[in-house]
Order: sequence, then structure tokens, then C-alpha cells
Amino acid sequence: MLNFDFYNPTHILFGKGRIADLNKVIPENAKVLLLYGGGSIKQNGVFDEVIAALGTRSVTEFTGIEPNPSYETLMQAVEVIKNGQIDFLLAVGGGSVIDGTKFIAAAALFEGGDPWAILEKRGSNITKALPFGSVLTLPATGSEMNAGAVVTRKSIKAKMAFSSPHCYPKFSILDPTKTYTLPVRQIGNGAVDAFVHVMEQYMTYPVNSPVQDRFAEGLLKTLIEEGPKALKNPEDYDVRANLMWCATMALNGLISAGVPQDWATHMIGHELTALHGIDHAQTLAIVLPSMLRVRKESKRAKLLQYAERIWDLRDGDEDTRIETAISRTQDFFEQMGVKTRLSDYALNASNIDPIVAALETHRMVALGEKRDVTLNISRQVLELSL
Ligand code: NAP
Ligand code: FE
Repeated sequence: MLNFDFYNPTHILFGKGRIADLNKVIPENAKVLLLYGGGSIKQNGVFDEVIAALGTRSVTEFTGIEPNPSYETLMQAVEVIKNGQIDFLLAVGGGSVIDGTKFIAAAALFEGGDPWAILEKRGSNITKALPFGSVLTLPATGSEMNAGAVVTRKSIKAKMAFSSPHCYPKFSILDPTKTYTLPVRQIGNGAVDAFVHVMEQYMTYPVNSPVQDRFAEGLLKTLIEEGPKALKNPEDYDVRANLMWCATMALNGLISAGVPQDWATHMIGHELTALHGIDHAQTLAIVLPSMLRVRKESKRAKLLQYAERIWDLRDGDEDTRIETAISRTQDFFEQMGVKTRLSDYALNASNIDPIVAALETHRMVALGEKRDVTLNISRQVLELSL
């Protein structure tokens, strides 16, 4: 096992009716900036519950944080904070609203000039951030219990990630009943994003870490079992609860402690979203199967473990077991309604050069757990995904 720090200060309030407990976790005299997206929370009653729970606290609203939140929009919220008296941020929505709030929390107190520098330095230049909490409405990213975020600067088509220990939510409220109104596309996206988060931290090379491996395998198996049920029975509480907790546990530091991490699939996926507007999870469903095929040799031992423990593949030669496990993974994504080829999104071979060029511009030239995913390997992965 590798050396590690494990630190996660986010207070999770999980279950039906928990939005009312906002009253307990936000200071009584807080001046709250309530941040949300395109308005789904107004249609499904979440907004009303939040407002009721905030009681007499001063509340200012900032609306319109879009999927794949943009620097341009988020900087408008920073202006609101600078003009008004705000001392607590409350994100209500999915990963985009929570990620956007993390950036706003850090940018509002940033002293190093244009806050875009936060993205350029991947968050290492953050020294403080406003306190914030979240009410999660979409299980997918794990943003509700981690310190990372991804922000897009539309004007230069750059989608970049940052993280900082100052950017953990103080608390997150997870009420599975608030996910009943999710469109099928977002349920599928959420299960795929969580699945790929686990894979980025599990599918590397062995370091004798049976605890982390079995945590990861438990999450993968649960996603495979519960994901399709969530599509079939949208109001099954237990299914939604299991999916929601899986997505949080997939990226809160637990399964990554003491093991190598990959993240090459995510980095290539970010370029696909920045250039072509493809949903985050869709990009992962396109990239991951080819990534595993192209890097089969360096991941061989773990791929065989995955084939046996997740897909019950014990017979046949090694290469057949590995290929079957990868195609089962791809079938699972398709079963969740998430297409797995570039051509499914109207992209073809002529789109590959610009994607590779963007990876180079963003210095994504040595990715993966061994830093051996060069631009050439990324190109092979994309070609295999056509
Ligand atoms: P999202 O972009 O937050 O939301 C997608 C859509 O779902 C929005 O239109 C949203 O509507 C809608 N929605 C959310 N909750 C709903 C509900 N309960 N009922 C009906 N509609 C609902 O999706 P996401 O997948 O959670 O977040 C994606 C972003 O997170 C990407 O930018 C990705 O790169 C990033 N990400 C972050 C991390 C991390 O660790 N921080 C990890 C992976 C990915 P509204 O606009 O009305 O809210
Ligand atoms: Fe992700």
C-alpha cells in the first residue's frame, strides 16, 4: 500500500426530510447566497423546502449556473458577493452547481489577481474560501463530499479541474426522494460517472490493498445492480438511496487512499465536453472502454481481477476474459442509456486532431497512474472509440 493522508470534514445529512435540518447546520445569523441552476429545483419543490428551512436568515439568490459551469457565469456570482454582504454559500443542485460554488467560494477571497489563475494552478494557490454547504439533487459526481471542481472557460473552450483542502463543503444534505424527478438521461449519466470514478482509482496496478479493492468492487457491483432498477422504478426509495450513497462514496477519498490513481479518461473526456458539448458522463462512456483496451498490458493484473470479481469470468484464456469484461462494461453503459462511441455523437476521424491539440494546450501530455499516456496513446484511444 502507498502512504496516504485521509481527511474528509464534510458532514453528511442523509435521508428523507433532511432539508429541514438546514436550520441546524447553517449559522443562525448567516447571510446566505443561495446558488442554483436552470430552475429544476423550483419545479420539484426543493426550492420551497430550502427557503422554509432557512427561516429568517437573509437570503440572496443567484440562479443560472449551467451544466459544466462556466467561469463567465461564476464570476457574476463573485461580483454579487463583493457588492453585498454574504458570508455563507448554499449550493442546491447537481455537480455543476456544487462545483461552481466551490470556485465562487475560493474566487471571492482570492488575492492573486484574475481567479482564472486558480484553474491554471489546479487550486494550489487557494489559501482560503468562503464556507459553503450543499443540497444534492443528482447523484453522480461526488462533489458533495470532496474538495474538487471542474470549471469551463467558454471563451477559450477550456474545461479544467482544481482542488483544494479549503473547498470541502461544510455539510451536504442527501435526500434520495429529491432525485425522483431526474430525467432518464441524468440517471444514466450519474451511474456512469460514479462507475468511472471508481475505475479511475481501482483499475491501475496492484499495490496489495485488499480493503480499497473490495470497497471499490462493492461500489461497482452495486452500481451495476441498482442502476438499471433506478431507470425501471424511478420512485423506489431504496434504489435511489443506494445509488446516491454509492456516488458519494465513489469519490470522497476513501477508495483512493493508499492506491495509485489514473484519471486519464476524465482528462480526455473534459476536452470532448469543452469542444463538443457532450455530457460529462457520455464522454467517459466513450473513452473508458478504449482506454482499457489500449492499456491492457499495464493494467493486466487488475483487469483479470475485475473480470473475475465483477463479471464472474473465470474460464478461458486471459485475453478473452479481459476483452469480455471490457465489453460487459460497455454494455452496462449502453444499458444505462449512455452511448459509447464517438460516432454516436456525430463525431468522426476528422475531429481527433483538434482534441489531441487541446490536450497538448492544456498540458495533458503524460496522463495516467504511470504518467505514460502520451498524446500518441490518447490519439490511439480516440481512434479506437470512433
Ligand atoms: P449537472 O450538470 O449538475 O446537472 C445536469 C442537469 O440535471 C441540469 O439540467 C439540472 O437542472 C438537472 N437536474 C439536477 N437535479 C435534478 C432533479 N432532481 N430533477 C430534475 N433535474 C435535475 O450534472 P452532474 O452530472 O451532477 O454534474 C456534471 C458536472 O460535474 C460536470 O461539469 C463534471 O465535469 C463535473 N464533475 C465534478 C466532479 C467533482 O469531483 N467535483 C466529478 C465528476 C464530474 P438545473 O440546471 O435546473 O439544476
Ligand atoms: Fe466525473
